[in-house]
Amino acid sequence: MKAIAFSEQGSAEVLQYTDVPKPSIDANEVLVKVEACAVNYLDLHARRNRPEIAAKLRQGDTPHILGSDIAGTIAEMGAAARGVSVGDRIVLAPCIPCSICSDCHRGAENLCDTQELIGFQINGGYAEYVKAPVQNAIRMPDELSFVSAAAMPIAYLTAWHMLMTRAQLRPEDDILILGVGGGVGSAGLQIAKLTGARVFATASSDEKLERARQMGADVTINYKDTDFSEVVLDVTEGRGVDVVLEHVGATTWEQSIASLAKNGRLVSCGVTTGNIGTINIRKMYQKELTVMGAALGTVVELRTLIHLAGQRKLQPIIDSVLPLREARQAHLLLENRQNFGKVCLRP
Ligand SMILES: [Zn+2]
Repeated sequence: MKAIAFSEQGSAEVLQYTDVPKPSIDANEVLVKVEACAVNYLDLHARRNRPEIAAKLRQGDTPHILGSDIAGTIAEMGAAARGVSVGDRIVLAPCIPCSICSDCHRGAENLCDTQELIGFQINGGYAEYVKAPVQNAIRMPDELSFVSAAAMPIAYLTAWHMLMTRAQLRPEDDILILGVGGGVGSAGLQIAKLTGARVFATASSDEKLERARQMGADVTINYKDTDFSEVVLDVTEGRGVDVVLEHVGATTWEQSIASLAKNGRLVSCGVTTGNIGTINIRKMYQKELTVMGAALGTVVELRTLIHLAGQRKLQPIIDSVLPLREARQAHLLLENRQNFGKVCLRP
């Protein structure tokens, strides 16, 4: 089969459009004919320097195939696989948990210590076919396109788990969403508007902020021009926002904390600009602030999201759809932050 694969880490040039063996499946697995695979920033990190990928490349004699956000049709079923049929249109849950640890048993498989991510620890969807355990295959509503479905898992799952499960966003809340042009940011904006909350959104360009306003953002802030916490406090007359969706890390941490109202909740899923942030502990307890983490999400949450997308209550933003062989170009689009919404590949 055709795939985009690489044998050593580096720039987008390492990605090769090449022939590799079609995966062979075990009894509990399905073979999926890939119809669309979305590109994530994680793919760029994996291609450049993530040590897990370096270890996989050292161990195996086969190249690595990226791609965690996959939609397609069931092409083959393992002997013991149940619940879907050949020909079904499905989206794949991106994580494969162990299913036997205490976290998996209590339904928090997103915290499983030994989980594997498709496209990361194992080969992914930048290919004509990919294999996965049958439990990862979620049937899609007819209304949903393969491209829209592939745009959802990592970005929407992360945003949903952050806002609904962790921060428990309410209709009366004000929420600040950082980097609204990215996958998690734009998903967070749609989910927040679904709840009825008032949304403050930041981005690096006025063009992205205009798109955010079209999607329902109430207050938009260009973070290149201004300290966003000052704008938040100004608009809320000193009160601050109830929830901050944070995924930037070190460079925005203090402004994010300063933007919180009394009883405010900051929820974080990423640290693009660095791992370490400080907090004024006195202000934290006096304002009864909560700082919480969020790590992807669960299959149950992904089923909810796919259902909502089938009802058109969530509509993934697609920046561009490229043929699989142009994966280098897709990576460059993300690398140069030229996209608003997801970039998808189609074999
Ligand atoms: Zn587990």
